[in-house]
Amino acid sequence: MPRYSALDQLQLKVLTKAVGLVTATGNPRDVFDQFVMTVSAVTDVAPHVRRVTFRADGFGDYRVTGPDECFGLLMPRPGRALTMPSPDRVNVRTAIRALPADEQPDLRWYTVRAHRPEVGEIDVDFVLHGDAGPGTRWATGAEVGREVGFRAGNSGYRAPAGGKVLLAADETALPALCAIVESGVPADARIFVEVPTAEHRVEIDAPVTWLYRGDDQPGSPMVRAVAGMPSPVPDYAWVCGESALATGVRRHLVKELGMDRRSVMFSGYWRTGAARG
Ligand SMILES: Cc1cc2nc3c(=O)[nH]c(=O)nc-3n(C[C@H](O)[C@H](O)[C@H](O)COP(=O)(O)OP(=O)(O)OC[C@H]3O[C@@H](n4cnc5c(N)ncnc54)[C@H](O)[C@@H]3O)c2cc1C
Repeated sequence: MPRYSALDQLQLKVLTKAVGLVTATGNPRDVFDQFVMTVSAVTDVAPHVRRVTFRADGFGDYRVTGPDECFGLLMPRPGRALTMPSPDRVNVRTAIRALPADEQPDLRWYTVRAHRPEVGEIDVDFVLHGDAGPGTRWATGAEVGREVGFRAGNSGYRAPAGGKVLLAADETALPALCAIVESGVPADARIFVEVPTAEHRVEIDAPVTWLYRGDDQPGSPMVRAVAGMPSPVPDYAWVCGESALATGVRRHLVKELGMDRRSVMFSGYWRTGAARG
């Protein structure tokens, strides 16, 4: 069990409160589990999507806070052994920076696509985007038996009962969107997914409007589609994917359609031309 300082706990409270002023409140977590996990299976589930199954005893007690649960993947730098940051800091980046420079692991955020506490496993769907980055590089070379670090995150989806729901995602937020749909969404939920090409589509048990990006800028097809969406105005929106997608859709919902910004959960999962860092 981590021991957070009073200052760390205060920072967490202030940050959670500040976020709640500008976006829909998600599902917070007080204690961020952290442990080493081992790759137990690697399967290519779609072109450019690799599912990696991880095993760890810690997944027996771990609980997700919501369907779009995210976690921090801590990867050893190429040619190095894995050093885990201190679990006693709320902010994992601060904990990483406290390590000697040549021991600091890389950190990227991913979605817990499935959690099986009874066997101590999670599945994670990695988009292999081809651009060199530690996350994609690691997933491309993933092999059974490899060890990496797990740092718990939290989740954002929290639609009020009975309202009109809008879900908008790109390929990186598709694992989260699939988990949200599986957890149960209203039958009249409007669902838009922007992917590079038709071969990135996956089976979803709900009516989805698929948008193909082709050579367009990430987010542009989505912003156009949402701008052309017929009424009524949604009561709640969950918008995740490339930064321009998330901010562009949110801007339209709030500025043009008059949605309360505290009814829009949005998150930039990646940014064109910039490492997540
Ligand atoms: C809460 C959350 C949940 C997420 N869940 C998932 C998930 O389940 N599966 C998943 O695949 N990703 C997910 N992501 C997105 C993932 O963290 C980013 O795509 C991340 O940038 C990948 O790291 P990297 O090391 O491969 O690339 P980085 O080092 O971050 O970036 C290197 C270069 O690659 C580009 N790049 C990054 N991602 C993409 C992409 N998808 N397509 C094209 N170019 C890209 C960047 O613009 C940059 O130029 C999630 C992000 C967040 C915040």
